Amino acid sequence: MALSVHWLYRPRFRLCLSVLAFLLVAALGTLAISWQTSQGLRKDHAASLAQSVYMVDMTLDNAAVAADTVNYLIGAPCTEETIQALRWQVAKVPNVRTVNLYTGDTIYCTSLFGEKIDFVSQGHYAGGQLMLMSGNAVTPNHPLIAYRHDVNGQGVLVGVDGYFLHNILRLLSQQKFLVLKVGDQWMDNQGKIHRDLGWPKGERMALASQRYPYEMRLVISGSDHWRYIFDYATASLVLFPLVGLFVAFMTYGLLGRFGTPVTALKTALEKKQFIPWLQPVVDGTDHKITGCEVLMRWQHPHSGLIPPYQFIPLAEESGLIVPMTRSMMAQVRDQFGPIAAQLPKGFHFGFNICASHFKDLTLVEDCKAFIDAFKENPVHLVLELTERELIEQTDITHSLFSSLRRMGVLIAMDDFGTGHSSLAYLQNFHIDILKIDQSFIGRIGTDALAGHIVDNVIDLAKRLRLIIVAEGVETQAQVDYLTPYQLEFLQGYFFSKPLAPNTFIEKWLKE
Ligand code: C2E
Ligand code: CA
Ligand code: CA
Repeated sequence: MALSVHWLYRPRFRLCLSVLAFLLVAALGTLAISWQTSQGLRKDHAASLAQSVYMVDMTLDNAAVAADTVNYLIGAPCTEETIQALRWQVAKVPNVRTVNLYTGDTIYCTSLFGEKIDFVSQGHYAGGQLMLMSGNAVTPNHPLIAYRHDVNGQGVLVGVDGYFLHNILRLLSQQKFLVLKVGDQWMDNQGKIHRDLGWPKGERMALASQRYPYEMRLVISGSDHWRYIFDYATASLVLFPLVGLFVAFMTYGLLGRFGTPVTALKTALEKKQFIPWLQPVVDGTDHKITGCEVLMRWQHPHSGLIPPYQFIPLAEESGLIVPMTRSMMAQVRDQFGPIAAQLPKGFHFGFNICASHFKDLTLVEDCKAFIDAFKENPVHLVLELTERELIEQTDITHSLFSSLRRMGVLIAMDDFGTGHSSLAYLQNFHIDILKIDQSFIGRIGTDALAGHIVDNVIDLAKRLRLIIVAEGVETQAQVDYLTPYQLEFLQGYFFSKPLAPNTFIEKWLKE
């Protein structure tokens, strides 16, 4: 019987387990959502990068077309015709703002101003081909990207309007930090050109163009993750807490349903599976039967006869011991009342009563009903209180004890010597009987100390004028040791083990 794990079924423990189950599902959910989100984010960002590279490539393709078209003018003098040809490209090719001719570091012919000498360091061009500029002489705050088509130190410079690039960045950088990087310069989604940009914290992704020397870069920050959770894992956000709650309820319910040991005790009580067994108590001198102790057994349908140490602690803890004990008294009463005449004169029945039962006024009624059932041949009813569980001295317990005394109920101190009851305690509660614990009797003859203790206990009991029962008498040697003391009662396997009521009647009352 696994009654020792009854704490597993306690409401508080079940609640803790349910909360744990919920937290476990929630943790798994968080992991799943976080994985789902980061996968979604990465895919989404990779797509944004590919798309932005595709669009920037297309913009630069226009510049390349314009440069290719005026390829034949490289090194040509800046005549009216040349200027006209350059301007024709600006007018015709989309995104192109200026087309200029240069030789070495000198621009000598421009679509905007015609023949104009300007200087530009060719070393600033990333890959010799691209340079980001925050503006030019005409529109100083309007960013542009310069495309350079070089043939042996001479060539064409095409200015592409930064507006288009800026638009691409703005469109694709919704909820993310996306920039265009050319050499050591960057354009952000506001169209601003930076060097040494302070990158936000987070995971970086980049995609370089296959055709031009630039790359697109973006950063996934922690806050992006949270925003994306709502986009990519909305269902999971609702689902996991619901599953968590479901699992928690199931855990709580199942732990309760699989029958807590307390429920098992309740059911057993309803089905009358707790039955009394009886152990004879004999006279200390002639060893004739004088009474019996009622010892509870659980007649379990599957596990057979279960001894009390396996269920009494839980019964006491759960409070079920009270109705269980009442059931013992009722069963013994109903079985022995009708055959009261067969009992020896002054026969006593001892019941084990736990401390909590002494707060219950039904005890007096039950005792009265028990005694009344034996009017034909009155018996002594003995209530055994264990010394390990001392009863509090309150008004209620005192009035209970007084009522019981008036009815003639005897009080026995069980397991005497194992607890710490004082003389005052013994006198306060008017104890009538001392049951010397079997551990002392068991050691008789094995060590001198046990013998001394037994001597002292007997001596004390006799001086207090208490009736003495020696419990756990198993051997002839123990009987011989105890005989000179002329104790009132002896109990133990030497005389008989506890027996089922019918066997008890058969063996001890028929003779
Ligand atoms: P207890 O009240 O001290 O009962 C005596 C125990 O010693 C019984 O064990 C009995 O079978 C055993 N016994 C008797 N003679 C000998 C002997 O010569 N040698 C040995 N080794 N043992 C002997 P049981 O029936 O297993 O009961 C154990 C305990 O369970 C009882 O100890 C009592 O504390 C508790 N118990 C039993 N029935 C009830 C009950 O109806 N109510 C309550 N509250 N407790 C009960
Ligand atoms: Ca007892
Ligand atoms: Ca005992």
